[in-house]
Amino acid sequence: MRGFILNTVRVKEEDLVVRVLTKDEVLTLYRFYGARHSYINVGFLIDFEVQESAKATIKRLRNVMQIPFEFMFDLEKMLYFKVFISLLNKHLIDVTKIDEFYYNLLIEISKKLQKRDAKRLIIESYVKLLEKEGRLHKEKECFLCERKIDKKIALARAFLPAHERCVMSKGFEKEKIELLFNEKKSLLFDDNEINRLFKIVELGL
Ligand SMILES: [Zn+2]
Repeated sequence: MRGFILNTVRVKEEDLVVRVLTKDEVLTLYRFYGARHSYINVGFLIDFEVQESAKATIKRLRNVMQIPFEFMFDLEKMLYFKVFISLLNKHLIDVTKIDEFYYNLLIEISKKLQKRDAKRLIIESYVKLLEKEGRLHKEKECFLCERKIDKKIALARAFLPAHERCVMSKGFEKEKIELLFNEKKSLLFDDNEINRLFKIVELGL
């Protein structure tokens, strides 16, 4: 079975409780330190086996092998990928059964990250996630005052559109937001705007 490590929690000195996102499940598994492998890191894609345990309520994570991606040797890219994984872990906190969209999205990011700017790729991927979950608001209407937005579009958490004055934050030009929301392309934004968008992503998915 294959999955991305979403989170690890250390228990009993050196053992770990590991959350893994597979194609159709989020598994919580127990990893004995006795196995002495070091492949358990947040963001890693692993090939693994699940072992049922008669005594324990939590199944065991076994025969772990890391599947590496090129970008993982780039510390900065790995850092941003981990930020996104941690946000995703919080977002999926109560989830056990899951649509394969999420696993496929992480595969897509992992394959593209070597050649792409990390923040831009994560912002574009996040818009795909919002659309998949039916939370992408393409209508130019302020979520606070419910009136039309004529000028620049400010974005709140979850990329909710708003008037600049309603959320007291600087907006983005309409054309740029439209290309991002419709085509999932961030290319019209300058680096400063990308930083601002990424900060909104960091507020939580
Ligand atoms: Zn408003």
